[in-house]
Amino acid sequence: MTALSLESFAAGRWVRPGPDARSIASAVTGEDIARAGSALDYQAMLDHARDVGGQALRALTFHDRARMLKALAGYLGERKQTLYDLSLHAGCTKADSWIDIDGGIGTVFVFASKGRREMPDSHVYVDGDVELLSRNGTFLGQHVATPLQGAAIHINAFNFPVWGMLEKLAPTLLAGVPAIVKPATSTSYVAEACFRMIVESGILPDGAVQFIAGGTGDLLDRLTPQDVVSFTGSAATALMLRSNPHILRHSVRFIAEQDSLNASILGPDAAPGTPEFDLFVKEAVREMTAKAGQKCTAIRRIIAPKAFESDVIDAIRAKLAKTVIGDPALENVRMGPLASMAQVRDVLEKVAVIATEAECVHGDPASFAVEGADAETGAFLPPMLFRCADPVGASAIHGTEAFGPVSTVMGYDTLDEAVSLANRGGGSLVMSLITHDPEVARSAVLGAGAWHGRIYVNNRDSMGESTGHGSPLPHMTHGGPGRAGGGEEMGGVRGVMHYMQRIAIQGGPDMLTAITGMYVPGSKTVETGVHPFRRTFEELDIGETLRTQSREITLEDIEHFANFTGDTFYAHMDEEAAKANPFFPGRVAHGYLLLSFAAGLFVDPAPGPVLANVGLEGLSFQKPVSPGDAIRVALTVKRKTKRTDTYGEVRWHVVLTNQDDETVATYELHTMNAYRDVT
Ligand code: NAP
Repeated sequence: MTALSLESFAAGRWVRPGPDARSIASAVTGEDIARAGSALDYQAMLDHARDVGGQALRALTFHDRARMLKALAGYLGERKQTLYDLSLHAGCTKADSWIDIDGGIGTVFVFASKGRREMPDSHVYVDGDVELLSRNGTFLGQHVATPLQGAAIHINAFNFPVWGMLEKLAPTLLAGVPAIVKPATSTSYVAEACFRMIVESGILPDGAVQFIAGGTGDLLDRLTPQDVVSFTGSAATALMLRSNPHILRHSVRFIAEQDSLNASILGPDAAPGTPEFDLFVKEAVREMTAKAGQKCTAIRRIIAPKAFESDVIDAIRAKLAKTVIGDPALENVRMGPLASMAQVRDVLEKVAVIATEAECVHGDPASFAVEGADAETGAFLPPMLFRCADPVGASAIHGTEAFGPVSTVMGYDTLDEAVSLANRGGGSLVMSLITHDPEVARSAVLGAGAWHGRIYVNNRDSMGESTGHGSPLPHMTHGGPGRAGGGEEMGGVRGVMHYMQRIAIQGGPDMLTAITGMYVPGSKTVETGVHPFRRTFEELDIGETLRTQSREITLEDIEHFANFTGDTFYAHMDEEAAKANPFFPGRVAHGYLLLSFAAGLFVDPAPGPVLANVGLEGLSFQKPVSPGDAIRVALTVKRKTKRTDTYGEVRWHVVLTNQDDETVATYELHTMNAYRDVT
């Protein structure tokens, strides 16, 4: 094929490779397939991001941005075959590309959905509950977050050119921050094709995304405290970049996802013949061969009870022997080449280090079969399995990441020893534990939790639906302490927060209501004279309140409710027993009776804009209600969120008080309310 000229996208225009552009070779054939690299005006790129992209993104609400992401994911999904075709050159089998391409698009979909379900349809994100900072509630606290006003610089690793780009772009754009993407050069032809689709979709505002094919020049020296660097790659590059004095001096946020000596532990209960043993072997082999082991989450250390160690080795070897290596375009090939010859050299160097402490029990890089391609010109390696006889005394096997199809088996005597071996990785992205014994799981998590960003526990009960040791999921955090970089990505809204500033707002209730767009108890309320259930979604105002009549609760009510529902708990039925209870003065009304009477007090029965009561949250009963007490209700519009084309969700702050104006219960009621033109 003719070599592709990979273009950067800087300040709104495409820039062709310059005279010093680097050639990129196909992993399968070794022929040059692309050229990348050009001098760019990095300051103009940053200005464009901050002044054009950032302004445009911040003008949108979280829901606007979430809808944009959904449209983008759909657009990419319709064009993904082009990316699958290009990924063959990077050595990816169809299964490998699925993780990268469909995994990346799926991640964007998840952020789109979380953005609409878990974030407000406004510009300020409310983080947690109101904090009462004063006796009378006139001075309160509320954490909120607003988007950073700079740019996000995404520096990505070579192994997942699509997923690696999209898993960072989705939370960044949802936060309202523009991004400058710099993929690893060796697979940048796949990233560039995907990025080009993003621009051509026209879905994102100008300046929201830019792309660097090649190096970053002095970009990092131009960052401000409003910018973020989100880096994925090796520990060595991370250390070099994060210790840039300019970045340190200006406290520029630096998120690092770097290498990791991930471990998988076979529980002491999981003897050969159990479903757990087979599962452990299957996951270990999959992690060695998927993406030719070039996954940051791949299992590098296979930790098994000494009694089962030789069975584990035999079972893994048997499966590896059946793994067909070759041209990833062939249907029967299970493992393609590594991404580049440079990667092969790097892995072989690391293998030599591992070999000083462990013997190779499978895979010889000097002699292995390759199907449909030339082993000399392509970046091929066989899966290589090592066994370390003394993992406690060893050190290199716990600190050397061969970023390829390489893993080391090590035996343990006790579970504590297994955990301590797993922790010797110095901080990892993921540890897996294959056990059917809940006590083993509890004890291992207590011992290992502090050293691993994710712990994947699997067994016969969950394996049918489990997602795999090596799959970071957009719902869950991805990252790890120490060696793994100390960073965190994804994890739903948690991942969006990396691109926002959390602010502790202190002030009076009216101020907090205005800032958050959400009714804060104690702030001004309005009564329109019209029952709020008669008002459409648009007509309802934040703070609009209905105050009901009061209703006395009689002993007959309590007994009727008890007999009707079957809830004859002694606190409602037995005066002596109720009195003996430290919470009650005598027989009291059921909490659910109060809720039912509350609904009876505030509901307006005729058909109208309120379509359904879909739940309540945060219910708390604060004072018992005795026969003869009277309750009334205040129902206040707390927050409104558009949900579909025809209705939106209204959250109501509900307070039940007694005849002395004491609060007896509070909760948040959720209803679905029709829009004006559909009522
Ligand atoms: P790398 O060599 O460290 O490169 C990572 C990125 O940094 C590439 O985009 C690279 O660009 C860029 N880079 C290198 N020097 C730079 C500089 N001076 N200024 C700006 N950018 C620079 O890592 P890799 O070989 O691509 O990836 C393999 C490593 O990544 C493995 O160690 C793996 O464990 C780790 N990884 C971690 C995760 C995770 O989520 N934790 C995921 C995937 C991979 P060029 O390609 O242009 O040099």
